[in-house]
Amino acid sequence: MSQASTPYRGRLAPSPTGLLHIGHARTFWTAAQRAIEHRGSLILRNEDLDPQRSRPEFAHAMIEDLYWLGIRWTEGPDCGGPHAPYSQSERRAFYLEAWRQLRDGGFIYPCTCSRKDLAQAATAPNDADDEPVYPGRCRGRTDSCQFADPAGVNWRFRVPDGDEVAFTDLNLGAQRYTAGRDFGDFLVWRRDDVPAYQLAVVADDAAMQITEVVRGADLLKSTARQLLLIQAIEYPTLNYFHCELVRDPAGSRLAKRHDALSIRHLRESGVSAERVMEMARQS
Ligand SMILES: [Zn+2]
Repeated sequence: MSQASTPYRGRLAPSPTGLLHIGHARTFWTAAQRAIEHRGSLILRNEDLDPQRSRPEFAHAMIEDLYWLGIRWTEGPDCGGPHAPYSQSERRAFYLEAWRQLRDGGFIYPCTCSRKDLAQAATAPNDADDEPVYPGRCRGRTDSCQFADPAGVNWRFRVPDGDEVAFTDLNLGAQRYTAGRDFGDFLVWRRDDVPAYQLAVVADDAAMQITEVVRGADLLKSTARQLLLIQAIEYPTLNYFHCELVRDPAGSRLAKRHDALSIRHLRESGVSAERVMEMARQS
């Protein structure tokens, strides 16, 4: 919590892999309110790293839908700003620099395990969205410094087994994870030469001088991983505010496939922005 004297900078960080739904509406509304309460800035970052899943039409739709909900930002792919570009697909140089720092510090290693190797050794992850704990076959490798660039193999962060990663979430309170048990050596760069989510997010938050991350509680464990990266690269620390997840009427997590609950669909059915926000808050 070293940010007390720094102006508040928050961010909205949607992925253009589908239409935003009322779960996003709640999280992004909360992020916008917190920026207003702190008289701070709000940044829109387009997390379009995955070329297979990201589509420009969804990026366009998310900007329209957020705007329609009444959410405003002062920096973003649509309006520019001092930390441009604001689309992750255009920020490769930042991620490469982070990768080099991790490589030089001995924090990461190349992993040549196939999907099949991993599937055979894996223990089942606790929830469907999480990656299984890596069994560790490649973690003893010491040839990282022979790689001038990351392409061609997977790169993993060597987590400090048994260490506790603890943080105080501003909404959900004390959180505690054990490295090597709750999560294993996670990916920082993919074999297909795409930086992994965890690496891109910490590099961008640091470069864009973000002071508080507001996002869904499904990313609590990602925060533990990101704290290890932040520590390794010596990025500034930031605050976290994780929002409770919105559930569908059957009680399961809302996913982008719930098109009926997409902001776009509700709007096209004549539902007002105020009503969408009410639905989001009541879920
Ligand atoms: Zn491996």
